Amino acid sequence: MKQCRIMCTSECSLACSYCCNKIPEIQKSFKMTTMDEMVRMKYDIYNITGGEITLVPEKLYRVCSQIREHNPKAKIYLYTNGYNLSELMEVHEFIDGINFGLHKDFAKMMNMIHYFYNDCTKLSIILSVNEDEYAKNKLVFDNPKYKNMKVKLWKLNECNRTKEDRFII
Ligand code: SF4
Repeated sequence: MKQCRIMCTSECSLACSYCCNKIPEIQKSFKMTTMDEMVRMKYDIYNITGGEITLVPEKLYRVCSQIREHNPKAKIYLYTNGYNLSELMEVHEFIDGINFGLHKDFAKMMNMIHYFYNDCTKLSIILSVNEDEYAKNKLVFDNPKYKNMKVKLWKLNECNRTKEDRFII
């Protein structure tokens, strides 16, 4: 499957010490592109990321709607810290899934995401959480009401896992 990562903004509402965007090799791996060029590219999977995508809601809407219009069969996945779910509701009709990177307030975040998911059940939801934090909060994640959400464990400094082309828009 041919896939790409589109960075909509490098701004973020959090400032995690382990953020992959701080690594020079990762920064250099993103090439600048335009909306026109982006829609001409034909990928099977588009991973839309930041920074925090919900800080640029109009751009996020344009990116998702344009990809869907020009490449209707592509899968579109969003990457977010989940602190601004209302902006994600605006684009849910265009996308296939959301990967929530959970950073803190796990019980509160899980509840919010659960209510969001109940309104958008066609979406695939993945919760990415650091292994240590998962172990500390296992009871929260093991709650049966979250059984439809897949939990993906990640390790700090695992920033270069996927074979993908990368663009900044
Ligand atoms: S929430 Fe994600 S993008 Fe934002 S600083 Fe943390 S790791 Fe980086």
